[in-house]
Amino acid sequence: MKTFEFAHAATVEEAISSVVSSGGKYYAGGTNLLDLMKGGVEAPPALVDLRRLGLTNIVATDAGGVLIESGVSNSAIANHPLIRTGYPVLSQAILSGATTQLRNMATAGGNLLQRTRCPYFMDTAFARCNKRVPGSGCAATDGFNREHALFGASDTCVAIHPSDMAVALAILNASVLVQGPDGARTVPIAEFFRLPGDEPERDNTLHPHELIVGIELPPSPYAEHSWYLKVRDRHSYAFALVSVAAGLHIVEGAIRAAAIGMGGVAAMPRRVAEAEDSLLGQQAGEAAFRRAARLAMAGARPLSQNGFKVDLGMHSVVRALTMASR
Ligand code: SF4
Repeated sequence: MKTFEFAHAATVEEAISSVVSSGGKYYAGGTNLLDLMKGGVEAPPALVDLRRLGLTNIVATDAGGVLIESGVSNSAIANHPLIRTGYPVLSQAILSGATTQLRNMATAGGNLLQRTRCPYFMDTAFARCNKRVPGSGCAATDGFNREHALFGASDTCVAIHPSDMAVALAILNASVLVQGPDGARTVPIAEFFRLPGDEPERDNTLHPHELIVGIELPPSPYAEHSWYLKVRDRHSYAFALVSVAAGLHIVEGAIRAAAIGMGGVAAMPRRVAEAEDSLLGQQAGEAAFRRAARLAMAGARPLSQNGFKVDLGMHSVVRALTMASR
């Protein structure tokens, strides 16, 4: 690991100006960033510690939703009464990720900013990775790609985003609150992540030096009927091959609102509007769920090793909707 400066910030403004002047990176839980630094994938000249900013609260908003400040640990989010009762799918998604120890350290902001676990990105022994070394090529396109994307990939990158929390946030229509050198702004979660296109090194739409300060959730119609299903190679401490966050609002057996988000299939959480729309007005049941699942996976473009994820995705959508409807 290369040497680096380490600075503590007492305010958001101080953190931003410290990162601007040092060219460094923000540091909170460090559960992904430090791994990348140890492996030589990241080598910032400085880390600016955010842990004294006090962004560790979860509060009800005047709009009837919830504000999660960016420094709240993943464990604290998952176990908070406002989240467990109003947004159980978020709690479930977070608890499906990593391990207890990691969830105790990892923060809300860091969860959104974690990088892909594509093995060619994570290991500098591999020469080709456009996300790590722009212009070097993509070793996954003709290499190991069983865990990679089915949707939205480009010739330059076929990686997926690893977050479970982000998939739940996608169906909850969360907003990401950011602050940067040019002031504060709010980014809808649907506009926060980006597909690789010609710039796979950019995972999201943050401007340079912007800091995530919070995540706002509007009131959810899915508190009674939701489910997060994560399918992975082993039961714990593994990233999703496919995951599905499903939310249903059911009145007298009929579906009045529906949201389906998928993880493990693209470089960002994938909402499937056509599949969601197909459920509206339908009786909650297998026929409607199978139709939605087919629509959710339509247009998938498997790579050489991940064709199995198309069927897996379809079954996962049916299963998640079934569990949500109970
Ligand atoms: Fe790198 Fe993306 Fe290709 Fe993986 S899929 S090797 S992250 S460019």
